[in-house]
Amino acid sequence: MDKSLEAMIGERNKGTFLVLGIDAATWSVITPNLSKLRNFKRLIEIGKSKVITLMEKPISASVWCGMFSGKLPAEHKHESYVVNGDIVKRADIKVDFIWDILSKEGKEVKALNVPFVVPPYSFNVDFKPIGFGLPTNEKEWEEELERVTEKTKYLIEEKPDLLISVYTLLDRIQHFHWGEDYVVEWYERMDEKIGELIFDTGFLDGNNKLIVISDHGFCSFGEAKVQTLPEYTKEGKLNLKGDHHENALLITVNVEYAVERPQDVFYAIKKEIK
Ligand SMILES: [Zn+2]
Repeated sequence: MDKSLEAMIGERNKGTFLVLGIDAATWSVITPNLSKLRNFKRLIEIGKSKVITLMEKPISASVWCGMFSGKLPAEHKHESYVVNGDIVKRADIKVDFIWDILSKEGKEVKALNVPFVVPPYSFNVDFKPIGFGLPTNEKEWEEELERVTEKTKYLIEEKPDLLISVYTLLDRIQHFHWGEDYVVEWYERMDEKIGELIFDTGFLDGNNKLIVISDHGFCSFGEAKVQTLPEYTKEGKLNLKGDHHENALLITVNVEYAVERPQDVFYAIKKEIK
């Protein structure tokens, strides 16, 4: 076969690597409710799933940063959204992220709503985060679920080499409603959207690759080893019911590289996008 034709076919078959981030998604809610979460169930059946037990602190800013830079907290040195009263910006973090590296190599890369900073960061995508990336009420949670899903569907159709999309709403919902049926209802709504994104689009019919991952799990407020939100604000008590747990979620489909820690997502992408 002629070389250029071969290259063209290769080009067409290369597929998209999708990383779907779900901040704070936790097996302790998913596993006992699988009869209601049919799309999570399907993903578990066709892919590989496991618990990622974090060796580092379960702090969102830091974990998402390490996941897409491949660096440990001691290397990227980005621990929280606010330092000394100032919001930390992308430019303050001295690392190259996977999107920086791959786009320099000529790959088509899109990243949507990645919450290693607030408001969450987007790359090559025009997206306005909901509620400054900290959606706090039902209306904002609905809006984020809807808008991240719609934008991701649209981006899947563009067939980039790498697409990263992150939902933040479950983190907020669980901080305020941990232990209530309300949390499970939101997992069901998330499950519907995952069905639309992954199955209704036929995303897994070809040779596309998928990672579904969270940055940490969740547990009741008193059980958490690290308190991630202040219990009291200037206005009074926040009444938090849940906080971050070190067990995060991972499901992969068509990904050979063994993901054992958040940083391995970076290496899996690097290895598998050629
Ligand atoms: Zn988080």
